[in-house]
Amino acid sequence: MSNVLEIKDLNVSSQGKEIITGVSLKLESGKIYALMGPNGAGKSTLANVLMGSPKYKIEKGKIILNGEDITNMLPNERAKKGLFLSFQYPSEILGVTLSNFLRTALNSISSKQMPVLEFHNLLKEKMKMLGMDSSFAKRYLNAGFSGGEKKRTEILQMMILEPKFAILDETDSGLDVDALRIVAEGIKKARTLETGILVITHYYRILEYLTPDVVYILSKGKIVKQGDKELAKNIEEAGYENLEVNNAN
Ligand code: ADP
Ligand code: MG
Repeated sequence: MSNVLEIKDLNVSSQGKEIITGVSLKLESGKIYALMGPNGAGKSTLANVLMGSPKYKIEKGKIILNGEDITNMLPNERAKKGLFLSFQYPSEILGVTLSNFLRTALNSISSKQMPVLEFHNLLKEKMKMLGMDSSFAKRYLNAGFSGGEKKRTEILQMMILEPKFAILDETDSGLDVDALRIVAEGIKKARTLETGILVITHYYRILEYLTPDVVYILSKGKIVKQGDKELAKNIEEAGYENLEVNNAN
């Protein structure tokens, strides 16, 4: 089944300051979207608002998942509906293994509990796809994980949860080339007919491995351009300062 996430004329503020002004996007499963833009453009704000962060106020507009208005739903309800945001968990949890953490996360969004053995097989399979050693599952969550291991864990989490839409906010930041390639491969594997992925990034380099279906450029809270991989490349070469505003919406 294909899934659709629509953002309609979204206007968001925080503490009286306008951050997002009139963003409309339509995302479909089976596709990879890239959202690029300069620092402070509102990329993370948009990601957080999609997940229902209480820090922001929706002044106007709607978020609609498969025809259902989710604009005012709580974050855990959205997760159950199939939205996933990277970085949604504390960076380190003492005494909780990666395996336990992922199983709890999966059970918390599913209507029925997956038997332990079945879960371990699933975990093993996904870890293999990401080139992760199976002993890694017994490590305490994020304790002493390298930057690359943390990012890979986020991708693993996405692959286990199989969301309808995944929003990956700067999953590429701070990765060396090898880790970047593995994360990109993971994103490609996670993109299925049922799953759409929004990759938020400041840099072109991860897109080199991904080939997004659509690239959006966000600047000062507005989508100012829309294009393909070429646009992303040109933007990186020319810099964000030279952005000409043309109304892409
Ligand atoms: P990006 O991810 O594109 O770098 P952000 O969404 O983090 O941008 O931030 C956009 C703007 O909104 C910045 O000016 C930032 O300072 C401001 N902002 C973000 N979150 C908050 C908040 N919780 N309260 C007030 N201002 C915020
Ligand atoms: Mg950000």
